[in-house]
Amino acid sequence: MPRDMQHPPKTTEETLTEGFNRFRCKHYENGAGLMKKLVRNGAHPDFFIINCIDPRNGADVVFDAPPGQQFLRQQMGAIIPPYDAAKQAELAAALSYAIDTKKIKQLVIMGHSQCGAVGALVEGTTDPLINDWVQMAADAKTLAEKKVGLTDKEALLRETERQTVIMSFKNVMEYPMVKKAVAEGRLAVSGWYFDMEKGALHEYDPKKAAFSQIAPKPAAPQKPKTPKPHI
Ligand SMILES: [Zn+2]
Repeated sequence: MPRDMQHPPKTTEETLTEGFNRFRCKHYENGAGLMKKLVRNGAHPDFFIINCIDPRNGADVVFDAPPGQQFLRQQMGAIIPPYDAAKQAELAAALSYAIDTKKIKQLVIMGHSQCGAVGALVEGTTDPLINDWVQMAADAKTLAEKKVGLTDKEALLRETERQTVIMSFKNVMEYPMVKKAVAEGRLAVSGWYFDMEKGALHEYDPKKAAFSQIAPKPAAPQKPKTPKPHI
């Protein structure tokens, strides 16, 4: 019997239902039955993660998170527009619930490298819906162009991705429920950049106006060895 007759390709539904069965086995039947506890007691997440819709950077996967650890919100390019109560009603309501009712401790805005949304912003797109959305980050593109110029396309893409994180970080800090919680010292807000190519996480430091790698921890610089004196 040919090999592919023994193992016919999975249907799309099988891929999902088999994944569900593995999840069920892990969190309902084995170990501490985490999902049963969360259903009984409710979830008390510490985090709210806003990241891109890119399927390679799902926050539950990237942070290896168990159920109940974090609220998740995905929008193209992790772009957060300036606050407008009518236009961002859903995001504002979700943040308000997470911050004021569920008392989360940390809000993370996470952009990533090789981002298709930022690519559409830098290189253009014929899709008017995508264009309308990514143009919200037009200022990030302008800042990146000033910083790295136009000739090195890869450098411009990477810098626009980072500038988009900075722009979104600054915008979300102006959302009233975020601003109030930060002022009262009960919420930390972070702007992170996931370098998918290198598998590294970088954090934006508003004081230094720069990113630095936070995971994996960069190795400390080696002190030059002083030669031992000959006896
Ligand atoms: Zn993306």
